[in-house]
Amino acid sequence: MSSLPAYQNLTLLPIAGQWREGTSGRTLDVADPFTGDTLLSLPMAGREDLDEAYRGARDAQPEWAAMGPTARGDVMRRAVALFDARKDEITGWLVREAGSTRIKAEIEWGSARAITQEAASLPGRMHGRILPTDVPGKESFVYRQPLGVVGVISPWNFPLHLSARSVAPALALGNAVVVKPASDTPVSGGLLLARLFEEAGLPAGVLSVVVGAGSDIGDAFVEHPIPSFVSFTGSTAVGRNIGRIASGGEHLKHVALELGGNSPFVVLADADVEAAVDAAVVGKFLHQGQICMAINRIIVEAPLVEAFTQRFVERVRVLPCGDPGKPETVIGPVINDQQLAGLKDRIARARQEGARVLLGGEPQGNVMPPHVFGDVTAEMGIAREEIFGPLVSIQSARDAEHALELANRSEYGLSSAVFTRDLSRGVQFAQRLRAGMTHVNDMPVNDEANAPFGGEKNSGIGRFNGDWAIEEFTTDHWITVQSVPRGYPF
Ligand code: NAP
Ligand code: MG
Repeated sequence: MSSLPAYQNLTLLPIAGQWREGTSGRTLDVADPFTGDTLLSLPMAGREDLDEAYRGARDAQPEWAAMGPTARGDVMRRAVALFDARKDEITGWLVREAGSTRIKAEIEWGSARAITQEAASLPGRMHGRILPTDVPGKESFVYRQPLGVVGVISPWNFPLHLSARSVAPALALGNAVVVKPASDTPVSGGLLLARLFEEAGLPAGVLSVVVGAGSDIGDAFVEHPIPSFVSFTGSTAVGRNIGRIASGGEHLKHVALELGGNSPFVVLADADVEAAVDAAVVGKFLHQGQICMAINRIIVEAPLVEAFTQRFVERVRVLPCGDPGKPETVIGPVINDQQLAGLKDRIARARQEGARVLLGGEPQGNVMPPHVFGDVTAEMGIAREEIFGPLVSIQSARDAEHALELANRSEYGLSSAVFTRDLSRGVQFAQRLRAGMTHVNDMPVNDEANAPFGGEKNSGIGRFNGDWAIEEFTTDHWITVQSVPRGYPF
């Protein structure tokens, strides 16, 4: 299987079982964020395409669910084999379309593959229950059923992983899915997965991809009567709106919202500084900091601030920046001009607010060199706001309690990390952090196919992966059988 021809016709969308062009009349130019070259020009989907995709999904779903756990698991297992056979093709798209470094593309390919492998086990883990009952002659069953049709909206930063994280388990559990990938990454966030699952034997119509602007078809995607669940990964601003539509619109539905973050990275006074620096460099700069779990704030107990900062800046200063296609590059381009402009603005404001620039520099094209700010306080924008780029601030904490208080001072609560040589102290500290995920003596950037991923506060609602995916993508149906005549009160 290693010499499969690359997928062709990537300007076509799979809609209700047909590969065809979107009919909105608008064209999306998909650009390489490093070179600026147009990779493809793709006719976008409009509302009619969306409606057709949802109706096709509804029609195809019952038969797919009825195929049973082994057949659905087989599709996932064949998809895993295709991830392997097409590894270069997939990582190539992640580099060209998303500006992923080779390192990040490999990691993303690996996590999407692992999720698909985990998804192969989900059909056999979808257990119902038999309940005790107070009513004589009654049998009380809880059936675990697919939701039906699931809508998935994903972002551009880890497009393959973050689409696969919803698409693979939702499909495996017997749902049909319609995906709206981010407009920056329609191929790696949707079209590649659709080609791959089709090749793996997924029946036509069970997975559709609508490439369209969020501002154009986003509301319609969520409001539509057919999907009973919308799985959204992206910014808190957009997620809030989706939550409002889903719970306040005409057709009520569940949502999972995986939103922004502002991960604190806490270094307590008894930490191993070298180990903390190693983790901080990767936890901050992987994918040029464009990760929801990326370190946003480094908080160091006062006695270690100087030693940590000096070593950290030394290491960051020499990170190779530039062409993401070169294997040694650590910092590639940010995704687009708008993101770059936002980072420039953040840098200017951090200076104005009195942060000290310990490391800086001018962008080359879309490649922003890493910036490190010292003397940062919790009130400054650079500490309060999600950065989503290769900028980071260092705050000094008086003691461990103060470090905890600073770490919790955020509207977000996605991931977090604490470094200490005292492991039980680390766990106690972790338990008092308000976050969905905390890693003791590791970076906050962590995701595993069998562990719960998700946030607290404005970082979102819901949990992904493994058993949590079963909770999210299925529902309980209580069914009883009365086997002897029952005595009614009137
Ligand atoms: P975004 O602007 O919220 O976009 C995410 C997705 O939502 C895209 O597909 C986008 O489509 C779509 N969208 C935009 N407006 C919409 C609307 N009104 N209705 C429905 N959908 C709409 O986020 P982003 O800039 O791509 O991604 C960065 C953000 O995502 C960061 O805040 C990051 O922390 C967060 N994130 C969270 C997680 C997590 O798991 N918690 C993971 C990764 C990223 P278009 O591209 O067409 O606009
Ligand atoms: Mg692009």
